[in-house]
Amino acid sequence: MKVDLGSISGQECMKTIFHLDGLGIRFAGTRGEKKAARWVERQFKKLGLTGVHQQEFPCLSCDYTRCVLSALLDGRWWVVDSEPAAHSKPTPEAGVEAELVVVEKIPGNARECRSLMQGKILLLYNSELFQLENFKRVMGAAPAGILLVDDRFPNDWTVAIGFPRYWIDFISCPVVNVPYTDAWEMVRQGVAVVRLEVESYVKEAISQNVIGEIRGRGSAGEVIVVSAHHDSVLNNPGADDNCTGVAAVLELARVFSKMRPRRTLRFISYGAEEQLSEGAKFYAFNTKDVRQIQFVLNIDSIGAWMGRTGIYYAGPRALEKTVEKVNQEMEFPGHLIQELSPFSDHFPLNLCGVPAVWYYRTTYVAARHYHHSALETPDVVSEEVLEATVRQQAALLERIANEEPMPFPRRIPSHQMKTLRQMAKEWCGIEDLPS
Ligand SMILES: [Zn+2]
Repeated sequence: MKVDLGSISGQECMKTIFHLDGLGIRFAGTRGEKKAARWVERQFKKLGLTGVHQQEFPCLSCDYTRCVLSALLDGRWWVVDSEPAAHSKPTPEAGVEAELVVVEKIPGNARECRSLMQGKILLLYNSELFQLENFKRVMGAAPAGILLVDDRFPNDWTVAIGFPRYWIDFISCPVVNVPYTDAWEMVRQGVAVVRLEVESYVKEAISQNVIGEIRGRGSAGEVIVVSAHHDSVLNNPGADDNCTGVAAVLELARVFSKMRPRRTLRFISYGAEEQLSEGAKFYAFNTKDVRQIQFVLNIDSIGAWMGRTGIYYAGPRALEKTVEKVNQEMEFPGHLIQELSPFSDHFPLNLCGVPAVWYYRTTYVAARHYHHSALETPDVVSEEVLEATVRQQAALLERIANEEPMPFPRRIPSHQMKTLRQMAKEWCGIEDLPS
């Protein structure tokens, strides 16, 4: 029996998006995230999936109650838009006032970093700080605070920043995000002194993955994982990132629930992705049948009205050919890109040797203008884009779930594996992969 591609509905996807978005912030370890997990679990059960359950794991939750940044200009304090990074340290209650140092390039040794940064408030580009060695050196230099600027495009609003779970332990000071345009103005006006007040806390909490299956009829026990994440960042509910992914997972589960593919389809909605796929990591390193998993189709942020849908893949050339063929048949304008990335939930299973594709739609070269900001409402999501994307995914999934033998081997080429290992070290602190 063929899957009914015509029944895939962007409207159904939008219902999921409005529902999840309506739950509000779903940061890892919060009530919002739990509610989302319970709701997804109920949908899996309604669709008749098998073995539906939640998998709990520990995470570091956080929140803030106050964040005020002021810049001294011509003898007056000018309040600058700001927002704490996730897991930022608080300032002392009275706040901290310090010299502003614009750091264009982070010095290569600890001593220079210390003499430049100690006790100062730094203005830094994200792209400078987001390298582990730089991050450690800056945090080790004991600055009084860090103002971070997202340098992907000239945003006039704050963008939520989060650090990988492994990096959080190195954070030594308050870290806040400021809009690019405000940072520009501070530098242009020659602001020399700033004040920062941050009330924030970090706490241990529990997050959860939701798992359900359509059991395959084949005897080999092979499994295909279809995944997205239901958590959000701290400052917005993420209508695109990643209500769209969960909507796609549910829609795929709905159309495939009417048939019995050869291979098992395992649908997973992960928690705590925004701390660098903590849920997916927990799943990959704890599931007993990881060797049975042949392929991952991961979906994260696919709904933008205008943009380019990237299909990033890790794995053999034959995987690329398979996706390309489906693109042609479906007349789907997905850009196939061989790129390894630790920035979504396919990554931990890649580390276990499982090939993957990751669907991610950008509006700028490597980003989305509304990404992790208050601009990201359901208005940014296009029903038509979603419908076309999920149809292509269903066509791809049908082929991979049924063709005998698999259209590509369960293998990640060794040069890709080498890069993945380096990424695991840098971003997750993993020295030895579980074999
Ligand atoms: Zn995401």
